[in-house]
Amino acid sequence: MKLSEIVYEFSHLFFPNCCVICGTKLLSPEEGVCLECLYKLPKTNDFKEVDNSTETLLAGRFPFERAASFCEFSKEGMFQSIIHHIKYNHREKLGVAMGRLFGQDLLESDFICSIDVIVPVPLHPKKQRERGYNQSERIAEGFSEVTAIPISRDNLVRIVYNPTQTRLSKTQRWENVKNIFKVTNPSEFSEKHILLVDDVVTTGSTLEACAIALGKCSNIKISVATLARVL
Ligand SMILES: [Zn+2]
Repeated sequence: MKLSEIVYEFSHLFFPNCCVICGTKLLSPEEGVCLECLYKLPKTNDFKEVDNSTETLLAGRFPFERAASFCEFSKEGMFQSIIHHIKYNHREKLGVAMGRLFGQDLLESDFICSIDVIVPVPLHPKKQRERGYNQSERIAEGFSEVTAIPISRDNLVRIVYNPTQTRLSKTQRWENVKNIFKVTNPSEFSEKHILLVDDVVTTGSTLEACAIALGKCSNIKISVATLARVL
């Protein structure tokens, strides 16, 4: 046994690394979810079809090239648990790992072939300080690792701190998010095809608000990739 493996085993005696879904003890290369659970992920595979359900959800809200979600998010479902750990339990690396898996799937298609830059949906700086990280940025990092597309972390910014949207209606969500984003330097994005990355899409209002802010940039194209789509 190598020293690194001994250190790994020893540290996990005290900080057990278990699958967030089934509780099985993980083997060292696995990040947060065991291989058996990864195999059972409720993938949408919607990147393979035009007019898929994510695109239908966003249609008419703002102009976009393509949109796709990695997995289906249902109440009490497997992916709800994964998103919960990524957002609220400091499982940042699980966000990177999921972004990597989604990026690998997208590499098999023409979905990302003309993307110039990945833009994670930003958190307000206060919220990011509270959480310690932006989960969408972690997902974007996984994407970037496998696709080699660069990330822009600070040109699209959230300028209004707003409370959680979880319990709001569709109209209330829209009132809550419009005009809360800003592009600091519009020329940086001009002529670019941007991939907006978010953790979960529910009504699409947050993504629409980002698209409105990005509208200040000349001749841009927008595509969207979210880790989960609420059913
Ligand atoms: Zn498992």
